[in-house]
Amino acid sequence: MIGSQIRTTVRERARDACEYCRLHQDDSPLSPLHVEHIIPKVHGGTDDIDNLALACIDCNLHKGTNLTGIDPQSNEVTELFHPRREEWKEHFEWQGIYLKGRTAIGRTTIRVLNINSEDQIALRSS
Ligand SMILES: [Zn+2]
Repeated sequence: MIGSQIRTTVRERARDACEYCRLHQDDSPLSPLHVEHIIPKVHGGTDDIDNLALACIDCNLHKGTNLTGIDPQSNEVTELFHPRREEWKEHFEWQGIYLKGRTAIGRTTIRVLNINSEDQIALRSS
């Protein structure tokens, strides 16, 4: 159970934006961003604040209980981006409204979380 105090702290730490696709809460007025477990509970993840991140509904639903995916470039099993241990800018960069992976982790995360889906692109271009 994650208390409201912790939720507030996670939200402030993320500056009210998804820690994967960077969608800001202001650009998602109908869908509150979620506090999610980076390592899902089914894999032993805890409610510790170091295992929590703020995520938009799209990223959260696609991430589900995944820890890894297949890097589309190398076809190797690769871990998903970990917002607490890794720097977003090392793994991702914007090319216009498309998010590009700079690393295997970035590419894999974009693929599994479907970060360049039509819905996401539409939100970014509005
Ligand atoms: Zn997102």
